[in-house]
Amino acid sequence: MSHPHPELQTPPKLQKGALRVVALGGLGEIGRNMTVFEYDGKLLVVDCGVLFPEEHQPGVDVILPDFSWIRDRLDSIVGIVLTHGHEDHIGGVPYLLRERADIPLIASRLTLALITEKLKEHRIRPERREVKEGERATYGPFDLEFVAVNHSIPDGLAVAIRTGAGMVLHTGDFKMDQFPLDKRITDLRGFARLGEEGVDLFLTDSTNAEVQGFTTSERELTPAIEQVFRTAPRRVIVSSFASHVHRIQQVLDTAHAHGRKVSFVGRSMVRNMGVAQDLGYLKVPQNLIVPLDQLEKMPANKATLICTGSQGEPLAALSRMASRDHKIRVGEGDTILMASSVIPGNENAISNVINGLTRWGANVVHKGNAKVHVSGHASAGELVYCYNIVKPKNVMPVHGEYRHLRANADLAISTGLDRKNVVLAEDGVVVDLHQGKATITGKVSAGNIYVDAQTVGGVTEATLKDRRTLAEEGVVTVLAIVDADSGLLADPPDFLVRGFIHEPTAFDPAIQVIEKTLAHAAREGIGDARQLEQMLARDVGRWAHKTFRRTPLIIPIVIDA
Ligand SMILES: [Zn+2]
Repeated sequence: MSHPHPELQTPPKLQKGALRVVALGGLGEIGRNMTVFEYDGKLLVVDCGVLFPEEHQPGVDVILPDFSWIRDRLDSIVGIVLTHGHEDHIGGVPYLLRERADIPLIASRLTLALITEKLKEHRIRPERREVKEGERATYGPFDLEFVAVNHSIPDGLAVAIRTGAGMVLHTGDFKMDQFPLDKRITDLRGFARLGEEGVDLFLTDSTNAEVQGFTTSERELTPAIEQVFRTAPRRVIVSSFASHVHRIQQVLDTAHAHGRKVSFVGRSMVRNMGVAQDLGYLKVPQNLIVPLDQLEKMPANKATLICTGSQGEPLAALSRMASRDHKIRVGEGDTILMASSVIPGNENAISNVINGLTRWGANVVHKGNAKVHVSGHASAGELVYCYNIVKPKNVMPVHGEYRHLRANADLAISTGLDRKNVVLAEDGVVVDLHQGKATITGKVSAGNIYVDAQTVGGVTEATLKDRRTLAEEGVVTVLAIVDADSGLLADPPDFLVRGFIHEPTAFDPAIQVIEKTLAHAAREGIGDARQLEQMLARDVGRWAHKTFRRTPLIIPIVIDA
């Protein structure tokens, strides 16, 4: 098994006849999936998603893959294949198309519709190519074939990529529900056929590689959802991912069977369900959906709301209801059905939402106390089946934190694959497929690109460190008026303190520190205000740490008198 060495360098030039594979996101994390394939001077991108920030990344909206490796070669990109419509696979597309708008998007009908709606908000009309399972399409040197896969959103596709270097099969996100609502199962016969032809490199979804056995069918949720609707005395408020068409279909059908009406709440929920209904992926019984203001006038035991916020996202409808910051007032007798998973890192936020809703008197049904969710990803049992069916020559686990990638690699080896043919890569690690063998040959830059309100990439790791320091340690502004001739203090400095010790005299001893620093600078002939500020930040920071055992953010402002 080859692991990425920490000191990997820029890779050598790609050999003739070799295929280069670089994940710019999704390896070592759950989200912002993006894989770039390079062959004969051309690039093919598979997925371009976003990652949602964690608590230690305050003020960040989303995190993008780092496009810097391909930025000089945008003209060489022949297309972007989108395996399915989840945010962590399509959310980064508007940002890549901002850099070159006419890169063709190649995807299934629903996926294309969802990305097109999203691009409207960015005023981009994309080049589109609709494909379906069984179809082939050629883009530059890449011969693509699409295979149906089943996932927690309809219309998912795996993609086989044939080049002169051999065949790659990329599963995208998938599972093997044998009884999905739309009866569209993962096409294992297709996988087997490709395996017979010879899969040289197999990229598989690692998300659930640590989960033993098989992911249960969506159908098995029916009794728990039914139970909620049968026993709820007042309103039922369901939160789900805004793309989980089948889960929402189950809720709609159950609500309908119990004589309830339904309203969608939240922009992305309304938008996606509109798209899904227009295209026929969501089948809505007549007169079931009513506008929210109409629903609010109906008896509570006839009302169902379907909203976003299943991950405790602070701005989504459900968390705002929990914190009484939403026009929908949750109260005694309301039943909240959280029909979704917990994405790692969101545990606290979700727990806070559950506590908030419970405090208002609601009964919260979630995956911790009822069978109201199944995963969208293949568990270990399904992955092992895949390896045995495909019999790949080389395996590169994708989509997961490092532990998930490793678990997936171990599964491949357990089916008899030689460990020499397993590549464990991280974001930016360069894997070359040459003469039937996949090897790590280097590393390119693949950092986190933060989107913060309107700016992309303006926020850096240093900004986030400052934000954390501000939050945890407070801030001290030191205002020093310096005599331009002597370089010494013209007046005693002012200390403006927020989120830190408040005693007015606490900083008096720091005056000596400042005097000493300025005297030293004057002796060295340093008069530049910027440079003085840096020295003061360092010395006052050291003093504060020694004195208070805290490290507030120190912001010195030097003004010439
Ligand atoms: Zn997905």
